[in-house]
Amino acid sequence: MDPALALAIFALGLAFGSFLNVCIYRLPRGVPVTVPRSACPKCGNLIHFYDNVPILSWMILRGRCRHCQARISPRYLVVELLTGGLFLACYAHFGLTLATLKYCAFGFLLLGLIFTDAETQLLPDKMTLPGLVLGLLFSLVVPVNDLVSQVLPLFSAPAGGASWRWLSLADALTGALVGASFLYGAGAIYLRARGVHGMGFGDVKLMAMVGAFLGIRLTIFTIFAASIAGSLVGLWTVWVVWMKRTRRRMARHHESAREARRRAWGSAAVALRRFPMPFGVFLGSMAMVAFFLGDRFFRWYWRLL
Ligand SMILES: [Zn+2]
Repeated sequence: MDPALALAIFALGLAFGSFLNVCIYRLPRGVPVTVPRSACPKCGNLIHFYDNVPILSWMILRGRCRHCQARISPRYLVVELLTGGLFLACYAHFGLTLATLKYCAFGFLLLGLIFTDAETQLLPDKMTLPGLVLGLLFSLVVPVNDLVSQVLPLFSAPAGGASWRWLSLADALTGALVGASFLYGAGAIYLRARGVHGMGFGDVKLMAMVGAFLGIRLTIFTIFAASIAGSLVGLWTVWVVWMKRTRRRMARHHESAREARRRAWGSAAVALRRFPMPFGVFLGSMAMVAFFLGDRFFRWYWRLL
């Protein structure tokens, strides 16, 4: 790893992170990202270029608007640092290759979707659909090398030197199809079982995009890992609400521990049903885990069998 190049790539990541913050704020609100200048959402004053330097400006202004002192969310700082870290990690993991470019672009989109879903429970089409197309295009230059590429040549000899590109594209298309149909199926089952929409079409399109970038195996890995992570967070939420309400009932209503626990359980169950679970956050973060660690996980898993 060349330290000067690593620093440059990190700085480039910070700049992209700064732009991503603009997308996270504007896309769900329907504001075009092409309008050049940002304004403070509270006082409407335009933000000068010297107040828009990644990390430094946030630190110097201590997370407040220069004019009206309105708080600026620490998300701006976090997204810049994460994008910088992502670009650096891609360079460290994949070297100076087209794969680095592919995973920088993919991770950039995922970070945008994760934070937009966390803030607004929306996964904008303007991120997922171009992402799907980009994933398919990247499969033509960076081999996805999944099931189709490995199984199909066993049956028919490859026709000509360029054929790996078509196999790779077939892998990306299959990945997108598998990802989207898994989420569509899960959403349909959820709707039947609970009578409410648990997952939207945003999640379906997100997983089509993830499938196009990652292929079938890592897409399935992403869905399972996200389900486990989501369930753990859900259970933990219920546990925390249950314990808090039990303690409150005992203190306020002087109920016995047993009675308080029983009644608090009811309200914890209601809290879980009302708690909007941003599943896109879990899918997005596990997709990122998948492209750094998924292959290592599969090697470990096959050795276990
Ligand atoms: Zn302001």
